[in-house]
Amino acid sequence: MLRNLNKLSEETFDVLIIGGGIHGAALAWLASLNNFNTGLIEKNDFCSGTSSNSQKIIHGGLRYLASLNFNRVRQSIHERTRLLWIAPHLINPMPCIIPVYNHGFSGSEGMRIGFKIYNFLSSNGNKLPDPEKHIPDSSFISRSEVLELIPGLNSSKLLGGAKWYDGFCWNTERLVISYLKSAAKFGAVSANYVSAEKLVVKNNKVEGITASDNLTKQPFFIKAKNVVDCTGTWINRSLFNEKMKLVYPVISGINIVTQKLFNHEAAVGLSSKNEKSRYYFIAPWGDKSIIGTEWFYEKENSNSFKVDEKECLQFVKNVGSVDPSFKINLEDISYVQKGYVFGDKVGNDPSASLGDFIIQGFNEHSISGLLNVIGVKYTTAAFVAEEILKKINPSVKRKKILDQPKLVGGEIENLSKFKKEIHGKFSGKAAPEEIDWLFSNYGSEAEEIFKMKSSFNGKKDLMAALTIFSVKEEMARSLSDVILRRTGIGSAEKPSDSDINFIADTMAEELKWISEKKEKEINQLKNHYPAFISGYAEEKTIN
Ligand SMILES: Cc1cc2nc3c(=O)[nH]c(=O)nc-3n(C[C@H](O)[C@H](O)[C@H](O)COP(=O)(O)OP(=O)(O)OC[C@H]3O[C@@H](n4cnc5c(N)ncnc54)[C@H](O)[C@@H]3O)c2cc1C
Repeated sequence: MLRNLNKLSEETFDVLIIGGGIHGAALAWLASLNNFNTGLIEKNDFCSGTSSNSQKIIHGGLRYLASLNFNRVRQSIHERTRLLWIAPHLINPMPCIIPVYNHGFSGSEGMRIGFKIYNFLSSNGNKLPDPEKHIPDSSFISRSEVLELIPGLNSSKLLGGAKWYDGFCWNTERLVISYLKSAAKFGAVSANYVSAEKLVVKNNKVEGITASDNLTKQPFFIKAKNVVDCTGTWINRSLFNEKMKLVYPVISGINIVTQKLFNHEAAVGLSSKNEKSRYYFIAPWGDKSIIGTEWFYEKENSNSFKVDEKECLQFVKNVGSVDPSFKINLEDISYVQKGYVFGDKVGNDPSASLGDFIIQGFNEHSISGLLNVIGVKYTTAAFVAEEILKKINPSVKRKKILDQPKLVGGEIENLSKFKKEIHGKFSGKAAPEEIDWLFSNYGSEAEEIFKMKSSFNGKKDLMAALTIFSVKEEMARSLSDVILRRTGIGSAEKPSDSDINFIADTMAEELKWISEKKEKEINQLKNHYPAFISGYAEEKTIN
């Protein structure tokens, strides 16, 4: 996947996508797969907006049963299955548990009935050939099972637990990169660090956009028959919004990452005891727990991803109020994620986000060739993409899941067999945990990286290979691109100084950075981590 701005300015695109978050990336993949000549531009790095701050849960839609929204349940089940199929290296089924303390419709009896319906609706989704990707039935589990799975839980009045399965995306940034690399395989042209500036319209028809290369500050024109604005909450201030009248409030959400809170393999949902009763989810993520989500109204619509210490303190306090066993302090936090979504209406509970996605198109604008998209879930981005393509060309058909090609990195038939094979191939050349780590981030691309590793000498040869791979194959241009959004080395905690310096030196050599540029990159990366979170990590075991 090469950053080719000449190509961007020479072609006339059937579909030009603005924004390289999950919605833009999934659309680029599906549009190119459906033979649309596709372009995508992203003003910062790919997946540097809200999409890198999702809690990584690939929802199976169980929650929509409570509102009897069967369409949304089916849609979520379908998307969970699709992702398990196209990106089997990144997405796995994840058990989820909610302790239940009351009887009745919203308690143990209601849940038992709900599970019967949900199991029926999801049984169709289990047609994937790899049994590891099947979703087990949901069930009501006993009190003792709950206490075994959630040690330390308040057991007074505990009746049992609701247990179901969602998916978990190990590395959300790599899923976006996988979509874009797969789109490139089908001819799509994508570029990061390119801003859309102005829509160009003639006779009420879109002709393209003026854009700016943010690395050189050079303006240029991109010709397009259709422009799709996938800029997330930036859409509020988008240059294409004059005709749109979108008045949803922006809300910010934060997730915190801590050392593993307890020994858990299941995500645990705990109900808060503050005035607005809501659930916090503690999901296992390797040796960490990722806890979400606390929501806030965004007063200035800033879209700055800087985390406020006061907001974090409130979150920590609320989680502690759920159950003293899960009390955490600021010092326990290794990383904080912050992202933005739209709320449903001003003045409502900030946790009430917009219920469903919105695609505004030809009928709403007085110009043809412009679509504005607001997605609400990382999980359903490909579904939204299909709806967009159907608006552009009604003859586009939804393909059966098993007929869809796997994403780059996901070309794996059977997970266990594949893992065994790569362990066999590379044993002696790398530690087993290194192989596992590489596999869970890069899937079938791990082999290529191992080959690159052998061309480097020295202690950090894998890190060198990953850095060069990110720059040459995945358009990484800044230190943060490599550390936060390609390798994931720094997306759960601040890497060690030695790792940061090594990657910066490797990039400086590859991209011919002068020393001032390198220092600037290091400072920018370090500033990304809020000052109030704990110190640096140990050097990575991936050397
Ligand atoms: C805290 C939190 C937790 C969440 N957890 C989950 C979860 O567990 N599961 C789930 O399914 N969903 C979750 N969500 C929702 C999900 O993350 C979002 O719906 C999704 O990431 C939005 O993606 P997007 O592509 O629309 O927007 P973004 O990821 O924000 O992408 C928009 C992109 O457009 C770019 N852009 C803006 N203006 C321009 C321009 N002029 N030119 C070029 N590019 C431009 C931006 O730089 C940005 O990269 C969560 C959300 C939050 C906030």
